Amino acid sequence: MNVHDSERMAGLLDQAGYEPTSDDRDADVIVINTCSVREHAEDKLYTRLGELRVLGEETGRPPMVAVAGCVAQQEGDALLTGTNGHVIDVVLGTQRVKMLPILLNKAAESSASAVDIAPWDDVGFPLGIARRSDPVKAYITIIEGCNDHCAFCVVPNTRGHERMRAKADILAEVQEAVESGRREVQLLGQIVNHYRAPDDPACDFAQLLREVDAIGGIERIRFASPHPRHAGTRLIEAIRDLPRVCKHLHLPLQSGSSRVLRAMRRRHTRDEYLDLVRRVREAIPNATLSTDIIVGFPGETSEDFDETLSLIRTVQYHSIFSFKYSVRPHTLASQRLPDDVSADEKTARIVALQSLQREIQTGLHERLVGTTHEVLVDHTSRRRQAEVAGRTTGNTVVNFPVPDAGNGRGAEDWIGRLVRVTIRRAGPYSVWGEVADSG
Ligand code: SF4
Repeated sequence: MNVHDSERMAGLLDQAGYEPTSDDRDADVIVINTCSVREHAEDKLYTRLGELRVLGEETGRPPMVAVAGCVAQQEGDALLTGTNGHVIDVVLGTQRVKMLPILLNKAAESSASAVDIAPWDDVGFPLGIARRSDPVKAYITIIEGCNDHCAFCVVPNTRGHERMRAKADILAEVQEAVESGRREVQLLGQIVNHYRAPDDPACDFAQLLREVDAIGGIERIRFASPHPRHAGTRLIEAIRDLPRVCKHLHLPLQSGSSRVLRAMRRRHTRDEYLDLVRRVREAIPNATLSTDIIVGFPGETSEDFDETLSLIRTVQYHSIFSFKYSVRPHTLASQRLPDDVSADEKTARIVALQSLQREIQTGLHERLVGTTHEVLVDHTSRRRQAEVAGRTTGNTVVNFPVPDAGNGRGAEDWIGRLVRVTIRRAGPYSVWGEVADSG
């Protein structure tokens, strides 16, 4: 969602007459779009502000600096005084993206910084403005905000309460993505499967998937992130039945221990989660699953952590995003639960988790050797000139050499093509293959 907000801000600046530059020294304006979901991400803002201050001193022409995203929303005015003298001209809240050009003008015309972090319930965004950074895939926001208040999570504070976008707007943006040549759409929401169309109350997320699937020209539909407690039979059937919906489900787990899940306020148990996985596997045997896991949540014992490892062994995830718990401001955990798992223990747990997952991923990838899959090519290899990579419907990254290299056709020509590829070799993070036919 943050990446897509950057695409929206870049498009708004294009429309206001700015031009992009890859050299900081040429920039009149630099927008830093921040993330506060982890402490490490937040620290990057302060490093970047320091770099820009040095740059301004060197060139004698400091750029205007706008800070957007979750740190801006969280800190507001306090950012202007709490950053060791780094100059910030604009502080832009997550719900105020559309205001960026206006705030830049306002700050340019006065000596004071412009701050706008007010809530805004309107989640519409004008069509055709976002400067999409991916030639193949279009991100499309369908929900913003969240009402769940999981104990560790900063999102309800930084993104606000849950607001749904009109179905008519979403379908129009999918159509626009098709017309701009995108072959895949990724629907975005903090709890994407909680969708209920404000302009069609009978339309839930499963129905929205059906309507997006019916739009001609889209090859693939993905979505992020669903919440396990809203993943019911209608969603499973939609994934099973709709040809363009990818057979991959990201199901955030956070912990394999029901005791920790309760402390996290996740509102599902280990058994309920495993039952959901069983139902997905029964309905869609080839579906891949991925997840998010936090290690070292307050009160997590080594027995709780062992339950997480055992669940990972049972589910056999295709990939895991794993994080060490860090205290985030304004969260329930920060107010009520001591951060009592030591830094060393958190590190030991994440290392153990990642090593188990690496073993599982390698095994899953090895099982693909000799099979053939449809791959949507989305980039060229940085290392090898005549090699491209893309993803299967199950989200496995497949690398392969292009057969017509040397015939005057570059690897770039393959971007956006759906190609049948036979897998020949497996690694822990991706596989390698060769074209079975050009599709
Ligand atoms: S459901 Fe997701 S976005 Fe909402 S509070 Fe929980 S972790 Fe955060």
